[in-house]
Amino acid sequence: MANRREFLQTLVAAAAATSLPIQQALAGADARSTDSSRLPWKNWSGSQLSHPAARLAPATVADLQEQVRSANGTIRAVGSGHSFSPLVPTDDTLISLNRLSGLLSHDDDRQQATIGAGTRLGQLGEPLEAVNQALINMPDIDQQTLAGSLATATHGTGAGLQCLSANIVALSLVTAAGDRVHCSPAHNPELFQAARVGLGALGIVTDVTLQNTRPYRLKRVSEWMPIEDILATAQDTADRYRNFEFFYIPFSGMGLHDTHELTEEPLSSTGRFDQNDGARDLQTIRDLISWSSTLRRQVLKGILKTIDREVKVASSWRNYTSNRNVRFNEMEYHLPREDGLKALQEVREVVERHFPEVFFPFEVRFIKGDDIWLSPFHRRDTLSIAVHRYFEEDYRPLFQAVEPIFRKYGGRPHWGKLNSLSGRDFAQLYPHWEDFKTVRRDMDPEGRFLNSYLRELFA
Ligand SMILES: Cc1cc2nc3c(=O)[nH]c(=O)nc-3n(C[C@H](O)[C@H](O)[C@H](O)COP(=O)(O)OP(=O)(O)OC[C@H]3O[C@@H](n4cnc5c(N)ncnc54)[C@H](O)[C@@H]3O)c2cc1C
Repeated sequence: MANRREFLQTLVAAAAATSLPIQQALAGADARSTDSSRLPWKNWSGSQLSHPAARLAPATVADLQEQVRSANGTIRAVGSGHSFSPLVPTDDTLISLNRLSGLLSHDDDRQQATIGAGTRLGQLGEPLEAVNQALINMPDIDQQTLAGSLATATHGTGAGLQCLSANIVALSLVTAAGDRVHCSPAHNPELFQAARVGLGALGIVTDVTLQNTRPYRLKRVSEWMPIEDILATAQDTADRYRNFEFFYIPFSGMGLHDTHELTEEPLSSTGRFDQNDGARDLQTIRDLISWSSTLRRQVLKGILKTIDREVKVASSWRNYTSNRNVRFNEMEYHLPREDGLKALQEVREVVERHFPEVFFPFEVRFIKGDDIWLSPFHRRDTLSIAVHRYFEEDYRPLFQAVEPIFRKYGGRPHWGKLNSLSGRDFAQLYPHWEDFKTVRRDMDPEGRFLNSYLRELFA
């Protein structure tokens, strides 16, 4: 038997192997450009496409300022392209800050660090540890850039932990006029409120000062259980553990219960299992499910129950994230915590009634509320539900079927993930929407940082 990550990855691969060929309309729906004489830019899942006339990677902030002043047309910042929503695509100028990265300075007393905006989260663990600091929480993967993560309110899980943007103490950005502006709660406070989750719509962030904590060790325990057992105690478990999330495998009745706790225990990990064993199991499941949904449930349940409980004790930054080698498209909505499990039940019913082809797990996480204008966690503790489709399948029928459930409960979509909301919809979900628009207009009166998606939202 494989361990759980290998199992999940192989499960997705098996799902892909059984799926119908993709309708190319999917990519076409999101494509913003047809100019094939230029090098295409695509996001991680391949669902967003554009053909930028210029791709810039300034080596200094002064270079960046000059490039912004002299750029033609729309200017969009890009991180590592891990957003599913059309935030990045432009056929004009794309600017990457991957050369403006690394730990720039730190304040030991305050446990704060100033970091280049283009730094990937995965490049932060060691340098922060070297100055006796660590990030307070992390998402599922660490390939995103810091600025990209913050721009979309990227989050991990933990009912007592906020999204990454809530840990920003100060940041600097280059405006549409090419000026460099600094903001913090004391200095340009309105800009600070807007820029903590800014969607790249206010300017190009060059560096960020983060509130960190002392390095810590986490014990992670992952275990397959009947989903009804997980659901029965989920709210209590979320309050009991520092980090708690769970996954549900549709049609299996089984979920993965995943917790992290602070620990002083020695570093350790359960052994790795032979990946090929998991692949063989999945081959068998795939054959079975093609003709019997009852057998599918029984077989999946039988196999998942036999997967060993995994325990890993490691430095925090080595114990949050994993590799996602199998590509997918994703919709994630952030719901009032008290309504989240009801919504999950409805999503499960819709999927298990109408979408027998879905294999991908639903992911459920908990996030503490904050006060950031465009944070989806604005003033409410949250339960987030994510649904996925393999990247070569048409995600639209599934996402169109579950989105009304999320909306019925007042859900706010993850800024980096797929949704169908308009500017008018967002205005109803965010009490500071107009404040954000005002600050945005002041920073960028000509709309140089707006691509067609953002123009629809903010114009
Ligand atoms: C496999 C996978 C796993 C994921 N896991 C999680 C997860 O666990 N939790 C979660 O919350 N999200 C998750 N996400 C979503 C992801 O964290 C966000 O979409 C994030 O924004 C991606 O960061 P990026 O560096 O790729 O930014 P991009 O997608 O390239 O850009 C995102 C936004 O940031 C802006 N931006 C980038 N750099 C700058 C800059 N210097 N100045 C101003 N604006 C800038 C862009 O203009 C754009 O608006 C996941 C995505 C994938 C593909």
